[in-house]
Amino acid sequence: MIRFNRPHMTGKEMQYMTEAVERGKISGDGVFTQKCHAFLQDTLGVKKVLLTTSCTDALEMSALLLNLQPGDEVIVPAFTFVSTVNAFLVRGATPVFIDVRPDTLNLDETLLESKITPRTRAVVPVHYGGVACEMNAIVSIANHHNILVIEDNAHGLFATYYGQYLGTFGALATQSFHETKNFHCGEGGALLINAERFIERAEIIREKGTDRSRFFRGQVDKYTWVDVGSSFLPSDLLAAFLFAQFEHKDQIQKRRHEIWSTYYTGLSDWAAAQDVQLPVVPAHCHHSAHLFYLLLPTLESRDRFISFLRDRGVQTVFHYLPLHLSKMGRQLGGQPGMCPVTESVSDRLVRLPFYNDLTPSDQARVIEAIQTFTV
Ligand SMILES: *Cc1c(COP(=O)(O)O)cnc(C)c1O
Repeated sequence: MIRFNRPHMTGKEMQYMTEAVERGKISGDGVFTQKCHAFLQDTLGVKKVLLTTSCTDALEMSALLLNLQPGDEVIVPAFTFVSTVNAFLVRGATPVFIDVRPDTLNLDETLLESKITPRTRAVVPVHYGGVACEMNAIVSIANHHNILVIEDNAHGLFATYYGQYLGTFGALATQSFHETKNFHCGEGGALLINAERFIERAEIIREKGTDRSRFFRGQVDKYTWVDVGSSFLPSDLLAAFLFAQFEHKDQIQKRRHEIWSTYYTGLSDWAAAQDVQLPVVPAHCHHSAHLFYLLLPTLESRDRFISFLRDRGVQTVFHYLPLHLSKMGRQLGGQPGMCPVTESVSDRLVRLPFYNDLTPSDQARVIEAIQTFTV
């Protein structure tokens, strides 16, 4: 069976974890955490990066930083992972679902203004598959209405929009280092802080509401409880693993783009003949090659496609059920027809096996199997 995902290892992970152990400090904010912070800050040009234990945690930190009050609204795409919404829900905010564009499957910026009310505090664009949302429009609407942009950039590390890195547009942005993402340490994440006013409080919230980070820098002579907070920092063991991945940034991204392009070229003629939509990447977007999906014409053909490939030893999966129609989404007032593009796309989307160690011959097998499928 050709699996849908396998976590990639670069080769140095165990060595760096051993080094962390031998150094005798494997709690948070050790040497490898500092290396990861510096790497991301320097590469992306972000003011402050803080590793977290997940993207979910980085989103929860963002929600804490916003001081959300019950009744405050946060605009979120209906087509995303649950954490994009849950993080704000647990702080008492009301999620307002917005539909996505039929081409990039990203938040539809032309609907954004109609979702904004006096209670709106933030909008959370998700760069699906690492293809940028229309950030010029989103940022200008958000600024005009004085609401914050928080990018859920779980898919889009090192992707760009008009040459600028994703994760650098919002006041805050979040990354995931879950094993299904381009760079990983099993479970992990990061908060990227572009708006300077959030830096000091983010460090405090991440360290159980204490000013321990300032203490370690020698800025205060003892640390104490100063604010609300939780424990969001990962062990330096995880940072050691992650740093090994960062060191292979160019190799990892090169291989992922090869896989993506091989699918795209190999499937173009078949897709055109079968009325299947391939991923759309606007010219001003350099994507991150996070995933490769197909949009079949109907739910029936998509489900038939998945079992057809399973019979030929290829695992494919669908992605994201519409959040407004989930059990929880319905309790929040979600109804069929509220986000028609999300509802249609979710029925028709299928993701192909995609991981760095997918061999060219296995990928050729996947492509050949697909080419014998008729819609
Ligand atoms: C993977 C993912 C997350 C959650 O990441 P974790 O690190 O597992 O918490 C959030 N948002 C999106 C869009 C994701 O794909």
